[in-house]
Amino acid sequence: MLFDSHCHLSHEPLVENLPEILAQAAHKHINGFLVPATQPPDWEATLQLAKMYPQIHAAIGIHPWYISACTLTDYEKLEQLLRENSDLLLGEIGLDFVHARDAESRQHQIQRFEQQLDIAKSASRPIIIHHVHATAACLNSIKRCAFKHGGFAHAFSGSLEEAQEWIKQGFLIGIGSLLLRPHAKKARLAAQTLPLEHMVIETDAPYMPPQDKPYNSPANLQQIAQIIAELRGIAYEQVARITTQNAMAIINKIH
Ligand SMILES: [Zn+2]
Repeated sequence: MLFDSHCHLSHEPLVENLPEILAQAAHKHINGFLVPATQPPDWEATLQLAKMYPQIHAAIGIHPWYISACTLTDYEKLEQLLRENSDLLLGEIGLDFVHARDAESRQHQIQRFEQQLDIAKSASRPIIIHHVHATAACLNSIKRCAFKHGGFAHAFSGSLEEAQEWIKQGFLIGIGSLLLRPHAKKARLAAQTLPLEHMVIETDAPYMPPQDKPYNSPANLQQIAQIIAELRGIAYEQVARITTQNAMAIINKIH
């Protein structure tokens, strides 16, 4: 079995074809999914998917790209939904400093991220982190908020030192669709050398499509696991088993 630790099954074009997308994935032994919602309009749809399909686990949060559109009411709603749904994770949250280039907008992202870290902390939930050119700032916020519930560092493409920092803070390292691109050197090095017991695999579908495809699909996870096995010179089954166990350990912790 394979577990896709980050895919947006509630987003177009996956959602309109979901039974077929899930059947294609199941055909390749991908039978577990963690689906993060990125903004309030996405929350209910993602919760519904988790209720309809036992293999789908949901997370809700406000992604750094969407914080400007959100009000205090949205954060209150986020807390309420976490209270009402004891199996929900919090995410996708984080910092994206390519999206925020000046000090003021970066500070705004940090405030909103820490606000959600506090919510995750009081609800005792793991988180899913989007981090782009902001690893140090993300880790600073996590330490400043004394957040200890760990989670997933999604779409990792940093240095091995950065990976170790995430691991130290209780995070699993998400390795994924970058491996489908031949030039992603850092992601390849991470896939090859990071301890497997701290690794999870993900597609980020429908985003980060392989070069020849209009969009990404969770079925591509099998190829990602195969590439990791080849890079490490180990059996594909070992990559499948351990990365699935890693993801399920975090999800089972809150059940
Ligand atoms: Zn995402």
